[in-house]
Amino acid sequence: MSTLVQANGLNLVFDAGRGATTRLTQAGVPLGQIDGVFLTHFHSDHVNGLSDMWLSGFIPALGGREGNFDLYGPIGVKNIGDGLMQTFRNDVDVRVADAEVDPATTGIVSHEFEANRVIFDRDGVAVTMFKVQHDPNSAIEPAVGYRIDYADKSVLISGDTVPVENVIRYGTGVDVLIHEVADFQDPAALPKVYAHHTNPRQAGEIFTATRPGMAVYSHIVNGIPGRVAGIPDETLIERTRESYDGPLTVGQDLMSFQITDDEVNISQP
Ligand SMILES: [Zn+2]
Ligand SMILES: [Zn+2]
Repeated sequence: MSTLVQANGLNLVFDAGRGATTRLTQAGVPLGQIDGVFLTHFHSDHVNGLSDMWLSGFIPALGGREGNFDLYGPIGVKNIGDGLMQTFRNDVDVRVADAEVDPATTGIVSHEFEANRVIFDRDGVAVTMFKVQHDPNSAIEPAVGYRIDYADKSVLISGDTVPVENVIRYGTGVDVLIHEVADFQDPAALPKVYAHHTNPRQAGEIFTATRPGMAVYSHIVNGIPGRVAGIPDETLIERTRESYDGPLTVGQDLMSFQITDDEVNISQP
């Protein structure tokens, strides 16, 4: 799971799950030119691509980053950043000893914040981090979403969450609202999974309340291969249409959206 937001020359990455580094490269984004990685929570599917993104970015042949790798998010990101540096200390040490990399490019600088505030503000691009709820008992903490603003254009990323008021508060009228969703052929299957996510009817209610220029599904929890049947995109859309009639796209890897002054243009992968 990972989402790239580009604004005013900045490359901001939200979550760094499996394969994110490969996809960034496929998208033509030099690994050395990532200006910040923001985590929504610390489940492995949002974090396990982080080491690759950081480590590959300071290798001159792959990324050639100037300066450190900036990691942003709720309290706990420093633990992850420091832990990765500890884990991969030998890689850094030998590349520095071998005169392959500049040590000033190998660090992870972690920026931790409490939620519900602007946590990044550079070159006219502001990132607001807000609290969400990933499970009914709030066992999974921290859990946040993000809103990105630049030049009257805005994107909201829900993070992993059940339906929460904060997505409506921060997401009303955004150009692109990216929301997670979970559904199965049999909606009664896997009640515990349902209780940790948002179903299409609930997402539709959120889209109706916020009226984004484009609603987008990402982080689509859809069946378990060989065990629980998932649903095709058409069914996901159909079930969302029970509560929402505005613009809607089911996201795919490498799909991109360009926000212009008048509309949101979609590029298929
Ligand atoms: Zn999660
Ligand atoms: Zn997740």
